[in-house]
Amino acid sequence: MGEYISVIVDLPVKQVNKEFTYHVPEEWQDSVHLGRKVIVPFGNQKKDGYVIAKKDKAEVETKDILEVADDIVYFNQELLQVAQWMAEYYQCYLITAIKAVIPSGDLKIKTKRVVELAQSKSATKQKINELKNRAPKQAEVLRYLVDHKADLITTELANKVDTSSGTIRRLADRGLVIYEKKEVKRDPYQNLDFDESNNLDLTSEQEQALNSIMEAVNNNQSQTFLLKGVTGSGKTEVYLQAIDQVLEQGQGAIVLVPEISLTPQTITRFKGRFQEQVAVLHSQLSSGERFDEWRRIKNGEAKIVIGARSAIFAPLSDLGLIIIDEEHETTYKQDDHPKYHAREVAIYRAGLKQAATVLGTATPSLEAYYRTQNEDYQLLELHNRIDDRPMPEVEVVDMREELNRGNRTMFSELLQEEITTRLEEEEQAIVFLNRRGFSTFVQCRKCGYVMRCEDCDVSLTYHSNPPLLHCHYCDHKEKVPDNCPECGSKYIKYFGVGTQKVEEQLNELFPEANIKRMDVDTTRKKGAYRRILSDFKEHKIDILVGTQMVAKGHDFPNVTLVGVVTADTALNFPDFRSSERTFQLLTQVAGRTGRGDKGGEVVVQSYTPEHYSIQLAKEHDYKSFYEQEIASREATSYPPFSKLINFLVSAEDEDKVIKNAHKLGELVRGKIEILENNEIQVLGPVQAPLSKLQGKFRWQLIIKGQELDLLREISDYAVTELRDMSISENVKVSVDVDPLRM
Ligand code: ADP
Ligand code: ZN
Ligand code: ZN
Repeated sequence: MGEYISVIVDLPVKQVNKEFTYHVPEEWQDSVHLGRKVIVPFGNQKKDGYVIAKKDKAEVETKDILEVADDIVYFNQELLQVAQWMAEYYQCYLITAIKAVIPSGDLKIKTKRVVELAQSKSATKQKINELKNRAPKQAEVLRYLVDHKADLITTELANKVDTSSGTIRRLADRGLVIYEKKEVKRDPYQNLDFDESNNLDLTSEQEQALNSIMEAVNNNQSQTFLLKGVTGSGKTEVYLQAIDQVLEQGQGAIVLVPEISLTPQTITRFKGRFQEQVAVLHSQLSSGERFDEWRRIKNGEAKIVIGARSAIFAPLSDLGLIIIDEEHETTYKQDDHPKYHAREVAIYRAGLKQAATVLGTATPSLEAYYRTQNEDYQLLELHNRIDDRPMPEVEVVDMREELNRGNRTMFSELLQEEITTRLEEEEQAIVFLNRRGFSTFVQCRKCGYVMRCEDCDVSLTYHSNPPLLHCHYCDHKEKVPDNCPECGSKYIKYFGVGTQKVEEQLNELFPEANIKRMDVDTTRKKGAYRRILSDFKEHKIDILVGTQMVAKGHDFPNVTLVGVVTADTALNFPDFRSSERTFQLLTQVAGRTGRGDKGGEVVVQSYTPEHYSIQLAKEHDYKSFYEQEIASREATSYPPFSKLINFLVSAEDEDKVIKNAHKLGELVRGKIEILENNEIQVLGPVQAPLSKLQGKFRWQLIIKGQELDLLREISDYAVTELRDMSISENVKVSVDVDPLRM
């Protein structure tokens, strides 16, 4: 029985995507089972593979496995199911999904050789007397080992008694001590102090939220909750107390936070409440540290896991609760295969274990809030901040009027005045600019009109050579008009401001201020990011100019002003989610101010200040924003009213990319014709918004429809056909199901 196994062999992609049967020779039969890594013959090579099942017989002739690779059990049935679900849902190879689920890198257990007594204490004491005069240092070492519960390596022990390691070796030769290998856990947080914290008395809203969550946990319902509440409304306290109760029932919990908010403060809060029961997983740890944390989780030492996206795969055995904080963050979607969204994986995994899932945020993604409306998720709301601190005052400045008044700098009079006041008061300011623009749009500075694609409802992108406007969804192209189609002015031009330019102008306007820039360029060096933040916190910097990096989770009590140079770059990003992103971004940026006792103010500059994303962010009115935005999604049938698959074709050779993208388009359209479906739309192929990355040209193609299964069928067909064609050699075609940025 069980002489055969099904193995997923670790092959480079573009090869086969199926399991292979191998025979297990007698000597390995006890150690080979689900989740083990084996070495197998494949063709005339040796390959790694993972066991996904045992079998009694083989349908075909089989080869023997060569050996078992190590003594790690990489996954159990539950995590295998998660990997299989991801491979199917996100259309990737099972081996790719398995490798996302298991630990990677250096998977060695770290050991050290510690010195221990070879004989009993009383026998040793006798030896000490014998050696005292002849070899006093040796006697001292023995005395030390008798008196201390020592767990020291040779050199440390030698230091303690002020001798050399030779002394200890001689004791070993005499058979009085032995060296023993002991495992050591690499703990990245061992030097940190965690202030103990206890459960607070909950407010009635918190209490209600907690009760709803616990009801689901206690009844083993795989219910998803959306916990909506502004920063400081007490969401984390609800998480902590829910986890506390989950632990009492002997179950465990996973807490996901965006990588960037995995700050020592966050970790301290969880460690302070639950101490060693908390394991931390994120990409800043060494692979050894991550492996040790992984093993602590696997063997049940740690029952709470806090980590970034991939911590959703933590090998927790009895999962009761999953928490995803800042649910709307795009970093929960992985850019590489498997292109999974942690929220969807979480909900699938929770379903397997009848666990509850809590999504927390102040600005829910449209998808998540939509699901509360059709009662897929249960909405829980915290309406007020704990200390009743008011929300920051948001001023929206109309930049069209600044132009009329002859102000040609990128800073409105109001923003300049506010900065001046902050400098006088010795308070600090953040000047925020949306990510470094790789895309430029065309806008009229007199009336705010932006050139958009009429079919796709996204802004057109300016290309200089030849000077044309492109739609990055459907490939519509048009000339840049000389005059504004709306008001006829000649102030219509392309728009693009970089952080560097902002920094320069600020330096000119405020020569006495200490100004620092934080963006991709200035934070490339290791530690630079944390250094800028700590300098800012210590007020070595008056004005911090930055991109998204400054928008997240930091707590600066002395910051009383945030200036948003232009809300328009976010608003006119060529993506149907640009309004949603703008609302989230403005809300989040506003949250960076007024965290101390001094209150705070936000100045948002825009050429389209009347836009609902801006106006409703100013009012802190998510509900109205949602209603407007969801109506527009419905009208244009974008998600959540449709499903999307995005194909990205990339290669070093631009001609090949274009040829393949067009071929893919033909295949997709051909398949749709065969299916006789007239509901599915095909957009493109077109140059991707990010048209060249790391030396590779990029084109994209989008399909949009009601039924994901149908879209997948089309995608499967087209990609497989294309991969079999000679033109696709050295070309990468990558499929993104539910794309988040496009
Ligand atoms: P959020 O996660 O929504 O930002 P937190 O849970 O961090 O909110 O709460 C904000 C602050 O209020 C924290 O300092 C927290 O300790 C405190 N807090 C939360 N709940 C209570 C409560 N019920 N009573 C008193 N203080 C609370
Ligand atoms: Zn105009
Ligand atoms: Zn278009």
